[in-house]
Amino acid sequence: MQQKIGHCACGAVSYRIEGEVGGVVSCHCKSCQRLHGNYNPMVVAEKDAVAITGDVTWYQSSDEAERGFCAQCGSALFKRQKKGSKILASVGSLDDVTGLTNIKNVFVEEAGAYYLMPPGE
Ligand SMILES: [Zn+2]
Ligand SMILES: [Zn+2]
Repeated sequence: MQQKIGHCACGAVSYRIEGEVGGVVSCHCKSCQRLHGNYNPMVVAEKDAVAITGDVTWYQSSDEAERGFCAQCGSALFKRQKKGSKILASVGSLDDVTGLTNIKNVFVEEAGAYYLMPPGE
């Protein structure tokens, strides 16, 4: 079974995703660009499957979702649905990305003109 472990830049927050994570989904929305400095590649998991250690600050970025970042170093780690069961982890915070590829791009109409779209549908 594939297990993914990640942490923020300072190490105050770490997490473990139990079970399979699918491919990488990159969000190109303006909100992700502001929060991450660019588009945001994430892996999707069930909230129940993610064990978080440390102090995560949650910011409500829309009616549907909130973003989790480390209160110490500001690393943007998570997006989670307020009502749904999903949580998304920023691929950049994973310790090992072996075997992961971008499979999907969302909100491509908001993508910056200065970068190339990663592969995926
Ligand atoms: Zn940190
Ligand atoms: Zn987004």
